[in-house]
Amino acid sequence: MRDSRLDPLFAEATVLPGVGPKVAKALARLLGAGPAGGPPRVVDLLFHAPTGAIDRRSRPKIADLVAGEVATVEVEVERHQPPRSARGPHRVVVADETGAMSLVFFKAHGPYIERLLPVGEKRWVSGMPELFDGSFQIVHPPHVVDAEGLAKLPPVEPTYPLVEGLSHHLVAKFARAALERLAELPEWQDDAFREQRRFPGFAAALAALHFPQSPLDVSSEGVALTRLAYDELLANQLALQLVRAHMRRGSGRAVVGDGRLSRKIEAALPFSLTGAQTRAVAAIREDLAAPRRMLRLLQGDVGSGKTVVALLASATAIEAGRQAALMAPTEILARQHLATLQPLAEAAGIRLAVLTGREKGRERVALLERLAAGDVDLLVGTHALFSDDVVFHDLALAIVDEQHKFGVRQRLALASKGAAVDVMVMTATPIPRTLVLTAFGDMDSSALDEKPPGRTPIDTRLVGLERLDETIAAIGRAVASGARVYWVCPLVEQSETLDVAAAEDRFGALAEVFPGKVGLVHGRMKGADKDAAVAQFVSGETPILVATTVIEVGVNVPEATIMVIEHAERFGLAQLHQLRGRVGRGAGRSTCLLLWKGPLGDTAKARLETLRDTEDGFVIAEKDLELRGEGEVLGSRQSGAAVFRLARIEAHGDLVRAAHDDAGLILARDPNLTSPRGEALRLLLHLFERDAAVRLLRAG
Ligand code: ADP
Ligand code: MG
Repeated sequence: MRDSRLDPLFAEATVLPGVGPKVAKALARLLGAGPAGGPPRVVDLLFHAPTGAIDRRSRPKIADLVAGEVATVEVEVERHQPPRSARGPHRVVVADETGAMSLVFFKAHGPYIERLLPVGEKRWVSGMPELFDGSFQIVHPPHVVDAEGLAKLPPVEPTYPLVEGLSHHLVAKFARAALERLAELPEWQDDAFREQRRFPGFAAALAALHFPQSPLDVSSEGVALTRLAYDELLANQLALQLVRAHMRRGSGRAVVGDGRLSRKIEAALPFSLTGAQTRAVAAIREDLAAPRRMLRLLQGDVGSGKTVVALLASATAIEAGRQAALMAPTEILARQHLATLQPLAEAAGIRLAVLTGREKGRERVALLERLAAGDVDLLVGTHALFSDDVVFHDLALAIVDEQHKFGVRQRLALASKGAAVDVMVMTATPIPRTLVLTAFGDMDSSALDEKPPGRTPIDTRLVGLERLDETIAAIGRAVASGARVYWVCPLVEQSETLDVAAAEDRFGALAEVFPGKVGLVHGRMKGADKDAAVAQFVSGETPILVATTVIEVGVNVPEATIMVIEHAERFGLAQLHQLRGRVGRGAGRSTCLLLWKGPLGDTAKARLETLRDTEDGFVIAEKDLELRGEGEVLGSRQSGAAVFRLARIEAHGDLVRAAHDDAGLILARDPNLTSPRGEALRLLLHLFERDAAVRLLRAG
């Protein structure tokens, strides 16, 4: 189904000359697995963009050399100075009419150097000069060539992200071999747009990356990378809009509630809804009542109260006699949702059930039977909800919490569990506007931009790890006066090579100071043990909970007022923000202590300071984008959400809107991509592996 012209690119990288098993292993480390999880392929090398270039075009005289600036110098070889001691270098003195300099070779084979640089002959030497004892030298010049060699010397050499076992030279060689396998393809970009932007063709742009003629060719601002970024963004927007069109296709079903359950829920709430919650619920009800499918993003910072909105949305579906599902990314979070929702569901007479990997055997079978019979109104769970044998009686609404951990594929899977299922995606990591477009396309979106009242700001402090004892003493005082404390550590088990304060060690140490008062929860514990640890923390039996990042998402214990994050410098900004959001949920004044260990790099320092200075999730998200790029902001690589190979959102963000509008126009005119340009765009979708979107076209 993929055009056969692309097949040479999707072959394994081992088809390239020089890629044996050992190199293939290094390439696998460098390029990661393809979307299907297989070995690296030719296309992965083709799209492995350089991040810099060495410019060898400068041809100064020796007298004009500048230390640290790469130069190619024409010289005459004067004399060799073989090493004076076994460890000493072999020096070669070379000169031009303006002065002399030396070339330095350590551990070199003397006769080889003498053949490379024969006394009395002209050579061109390219490398990085440095000052030594008042005169210039080049240590191990990467290029020493004669007139013939000079003609072949690349003026600019690309430099790539590397792993051990690979060099820039090798990667360039493989990328160029990959380029040779690229067939001639029709242009898929609009000609007028291309001319206006001065975009080169697709193949020419790739050639510019791997055979740069100037450093601009590999820069994000250059036309080559900009064109490729635009290709990728367009493929992404087309795919998102095709998925959206597919989900919207068909009549959809109007889901109209009568408000009878929602009223009971609202009456049972110990608070009244915020303005933002009321607006979101109204928008969702309107979407549900419309005969088309809903696709809505609900963005709300930690603690903004998304759960109640989800419940009220579900209530509308249930009032209409249908079912709803709420999916969470972790077991703990699913159980937490269950605990939060239970009393409200009971008050309203909603039949609630939970399904995670832990429900097994007869219990699971019984649950699935009730679900299929329509005796469960709202099913809360983890990705276990995706299993094929999970069959709803009549699913109307699927809500996915913390969406960026799931991909487009899962979104489709859940939506296919009912007739014209409405989908709502909730995310707690505020996503900057450009990223909403790249990750979700033009979903409708509601923002809970107003926190529930009565929250006091969190006092965030940076504390050097050398003040650990002081911190522990302060925790002791706080616990004595009734506080609950989270203590977060980066890894589960002691690692000898990494200086990581492991949760188990910290648990042991704290348990010695505060016997019987410390609990432990981490991802490798059994589900029931996790629950028990969280329950003991909630009840106050163990007022200190040592945890790994399993508590990152969603755990809600309003009594907790202190968050200690050990080795805070090792966490990402969004993650720190999520973790801190576990406190400051009740009326009590909360504190977050970021224990850091130096020396801090600039980025780590900027992260910690940003967190200390603001609690505004949108500010933090923008800063995160600036510091780390889009891959991190959207979560991990395997998120399935947009993570780009060539586009760099920091640099190419302004193209997202253009690609979005372009995709809209294209699909409005040619919804099945059957025109000549449409055919070319299918190639583009395959090239950037948006194959799932092409399949939707086929399905018609
Ligand atoms: P999140 O958006 O992070 O999922 P939650 O739904 O867990 O937030 O809500 C956080 C806390 O705020 C919960 O304890 C919830 O009961 C409370 N809450 C939600 N809405 C309101 C409100 N309108 N007024 C007061 N408290 C609220
Ligand atoms: Mg939540």
